[in-house]
Amino acid sequence: MKAHNFSAGPCILPPEVLRQASEAVINFDGLNLSLLEISHRSKNFVAVVEKTQALIKDLLDVPAGYSVLFVQGGASLEFVMVALNLMKKDGGKAAYTDTGAWAGKAIEEAKRQGEVVVVGSSKDKNYNFIPKGYEVPVGMDYFHCTSNNTIYGTQMKEFPKVDTLMVCDMSSDIMSRKVNVADFDLIYAGAQKNMGPAGATIVIVKDEILGKTGRDIPAYLNYKTHISKESMFNTPPVFSIYVMMLTMQWLKDNGGVEWIEEVNRQKAELIYNEIDRNPLFKGTAEVEDRSTMNACFLLNDESHTETFNEMWKAAGVSGINGHRSVGGYRASMYNALPLESVQVLVDVMKELEKKVG
Ligand code: PLP
Repeated sequence: MKAHNFSAGPCILPPEVLRQASEAVINFDGLNLSLLEISHRSKNFVAVVEKTQALIKDLLDVPAGYSVLFVQGGASLEFVMVALNLMKKDGGKAAYTDTGAWAGKAIEEAKRQGEVVVVGSSKDKNYNFIPKGYEVPVGMDYFHCTSNNTIYGTQMKEFPKVDTLMVCDMSSDIMSRKVNVADFDLIYAGAQKNMGPAGATIVIVKDEILGKTGRDIPAYLNYKTHISKESMFNTPPVFSIYVMMLTMQWLKDNGGVEWIEEVNRQKAELIYNEIDRNPLFKGTAEVEDRSTMNACFLLNDESHTETFNEMWKAAGVSGINGHRSVGGYRASMYNALPLESVQVLVDVMKELEKKVG
């Protein structure tokens, strides 16, 4: 029996994607060579990069004038690259929301390059809500937000309209719901939640915003390098990109982002209804800001912890321990997690109530 994997990441992948990926590791494209031992400049692999870019553009309706890039270093390197590419060398200033540990790390990196104005923060409530109603001061080089806060289970349902460049870390909810890419100037995401294995980071950037900071940016860290070299400036993470292509094809074949958004809505509704109904549990995030990707909850009475843990493990559930800064449980429900897995977890929660409630 395959585990019901609620891990916060790296992601889970659809079984057919895992099968196709393992076949390509032995024999890629009928070449009798492994995907892992072909040149990244061979026409077969260049075709993989192009197809992956085309699928992402198609699935997210990326408008003309934007580039889709594959880089390495995870979203963590994007914290640095965003600041280097968008913050002016002299007197650079950017506005950030502080909605969790990852947003905090993005802020720390930006502070190395210029001034950061934190315009909205939920830090004093252990990040259990999404700040709203803030003003972004004039004169900012850009505004940065985190669409989904993986650790705390909060998610932006709406994005503010700002009079500066709009930058978003979508690492943990990209491809899970429709977003209007034209409302953003730069979107980045580590691939490893909804798009594929760790190793590749995707950046969707409006070309015209680049090259305006007056900085001498190191080649790898300059988005323009990756645009001009078509994401082949150095050896790309071939396996990650290939599996991303398979995962994006799986998404498209099943009905695209609109389809998965509805599936994700059903999964979230199922678990949150149980968290709210079952007197043994309580959710940690403010209801209106609850994430469809990561549901965080606690046992009201911690003396049931051992019993509950034994029960979900016996049901084949894995990866639901909460992050240490929130405690309790976190059920991460990325795209490839089927509704049935959420039902299994909900059934265990109901059984616990029968047993000890
Ligand atoms: N941003 C968010 C919202 C995340 O959830 C994570 C990782 O979980 C990161 C950034 C860091 O990503 P990476 O490990 O790819 O650097």
